[in-house]
Order: sequence, then C-alpha cells, then structure tokens
Amino acid sequence: MIKFLDLKKINERYREEINSRIKNVLDSGWYILGNECKVFEENFAKFIGAKHCIGCANGLDALNLIIRGFGFKQGDEIIVPANTYIASILAISENGCTPVLVEPDIETYNINPDLIEEKITDKTKAIMVVHLYGQAVQMQKIKEIAKRHNLKIIEDSAQAHGSIYNGVKCGSLGDASGFSFYPGKNLGALGDGGCITTDDDELAKKIRAIANYGSDYKYHHIYKGINSRLDEIQAAILDVKLKYLEKDNNRRREISKYFRENIKNPAIVLPKTYDELAHVWHIFAVRVQDRCKFQNYLEENEIQTNIHYPTPPHKQGAYKEWRNFNLPVTEKIHNEIISLPMSPVLEDNEVEKIVEVVNGYN
Ligand SMILES: *Cc1c(COP(=O)(O)O)cnc(C)c1O
Repeated sequence: MIKFLDLKKINERYREEINSRIKNVLDSGWYILGNECKVFEENFAKFIGAKHCIGCANGLDALNLIIRGFGFKQGDEIIVPANTYIASILAISENGCTPVLVEPDIETYNINPDLIEEKITDKTKAIMVVHLYGQAVQMQKIKEIAKRHNLKIIEDSAQAHGSIYNGVKCGSLGDASGFSFYPGKNLGALGDGGCITTDDDELAKKIRAIANYGSDYKYHHIYKGINSRLDEIQAAILDVKLKYLEKDNNRRREISKYFRENIKNPAIVLPKTYDELAHVWHIFAVRVQDRCKFQNYLEENEIQTNIHYPTPPHKQGAYKEWRNFNLPVTEKIHNEIISLPMSPVLEDNEVEKIVEVVNGYN
C-alpha cells in the first residue's frame, strides 16, 4: 500500500539529530519559553523574511492570537474564503467576529479576489487569505483592496511553509500570518505547535503577552490572556527539521511536476500553479466527477487517498445558520476534490505507480 502520508518515514530521516536535541532539552531542566524556542523563532523568522516570529501552541491559536492582537471584537467582520479548513473560520468566530465567506477561484482554489469588494461593509476589519494546499495567494489585487478600504491582511499560512509570491514568502505577505506545525504539515512537529510572523513591533509584543497569560513580564498581567506556547521540545525538533524544509519542498515540487506532466486522463482535473515557486504542494488535490468510484479504484490498487475537505464549513453542524448559503464553487470543489499521496519520502517507483494507476482509471 502506498500511504497517503508516511509520517514515521518522514521523521525517521532525522532520528539521531532529533534525539540529541531532545536530550539537550531534558538535560537543560528548562521546558517552556527557553532557549530552544528563542532559537527556533529567530531561525523561522529569518526563513520567512519576517521581523518577528512568536511560537504558540497550534495553528488555530496563531490565528486567534492575531485577531486578539489587532483587538477585533464582537460585530467586526473578517473576510475569509468559503472553502478553507474550518480552523480559519473558527478563529474568527472564537473572537465574536463575523466570518464573511467569499467563493474561491476554481483554478487556484484560493479566494477569488474579484468577489471580495462586494462583501466589504463599514464593519469589515480584515481580509484573511488562506494559501490553500500550499499555493501562495496572488496578493496584488487583494493588497490594493485592503489599502483602499483600510483593512488588515491576515494570512493563514498553515499549509504554505516556504511558498513564494513575487519573491516574498507566505508569512510576510500581509500584516500578520499564522502557521501550524501539526505533524502532517510541510514543517511538522512531533505534536502540536504553531507560530505567528509579523513585521509589526507593537503587534508582536502584544501577541507575545496575550499568549502568555496576558503577561508582559512575570506576574504582571495587562491583558486577559491565554496560555498558548510552543514547548521547548517541539521547538528543538522544528529547528532540526527547518534546515531540511527547502529540500523537502523541492522534492514535493518535483513529484508534483511529474504528476502534472504524466497524468493524462480526461476524467481527472489536475491542479495548476502560476509559478513553480508559489506552491509547496502540501496537498496534491485533483478533481473527478465520481470521486467515490475513483477513491475505491485507487484503494483496490493499493494507493491511499484523502479528501481535503469532504464538507464545506457552511454545511457543518457548527455553522447551522449558514446551511442555506449559495456557494456553488465551494460546493463543487468539496464534491469533486481528492488528494493523491504527496510527501518528500515518496519513492520514484511509487510516484510512477501512482501515475500508471491514475492513467488506467476509466
Ligand atoms: C492545519 C490548519 C490550521 C490549524 O492548525 P492546527 O495546528 O491544527 O491548529 C489552520 N488553517 C489551515 C488552512 C490548516 O490547514
């Protein structure tokens, strides 16, 4: 069976380095907000090209902390793509703000910039872009809209560690960005983790305080904060894996290119990119009319797949009030999308087999 994502194999490559860094943490006697976190934050900020990186507990918290950091509250509206992973939307609701759903572009699966402006009201405070499946959103028009209406741009970069738009990495394209280090992401911890990147000094300081019980220094609390921190052990592991991220992303790009050049089946709609550097192929999603049949066929041929995502947020029980929304592009994507195996540890013969099997589908 070709696994959808072999996490053990991914991490196995760094076993010795990871073990030795974990041992350092164990020996240090310091497990929260210490040197490992500081070093990783510096290295990740440098990688992204951002002034600040603030570690936190997970990707959802990263987005939540950004919204809290900006001080958005009850009644404020934040524009967000309708086909995102639900975490982007939960972060908005969690703060009492109103998520305003915008349809994606069927070519890129990212938010359709031409549909944003009609959704802006006097309550709109920000646009949250999501670099879905690992492809950087084309920011030009969105930046112009944000500027014209005085809106903040929040990036959900949870799937886009290393994607580049016009020479600038995701995480440095807006006012602040949230990353996830969930084990399955392109840069994944051995547990939960996340961070915020920003160039804004004030915001960085505020977010750092909110994430640590609202405390700017010990036992001095200026915000009603939360506890959301990146463990020393996870930071140490991430710091090891960060060194290999570019290499891993390039292997994903190579596999994606092979898929796109060699899968030739009229029943399959392949993903496209406007620039090979813009995509880090966190997910290689194709579209097919009879998804269930296609998925069973692949399963019978020993290829594991996944669906990102089977049900859009507006059809989830959590957002019952949205169930009658008319979002045909979002629904079409959710009905047809299916993700082929994609990871830096796929072997050439596995990649070839996937192509062969997909081409044999009818
Ligand atoms: C994974 C993910 C998140 C949430 O990250 P967690 O670390 O799991 O909380 C948010 N947004 C998107 C697009 C994601 O893929």
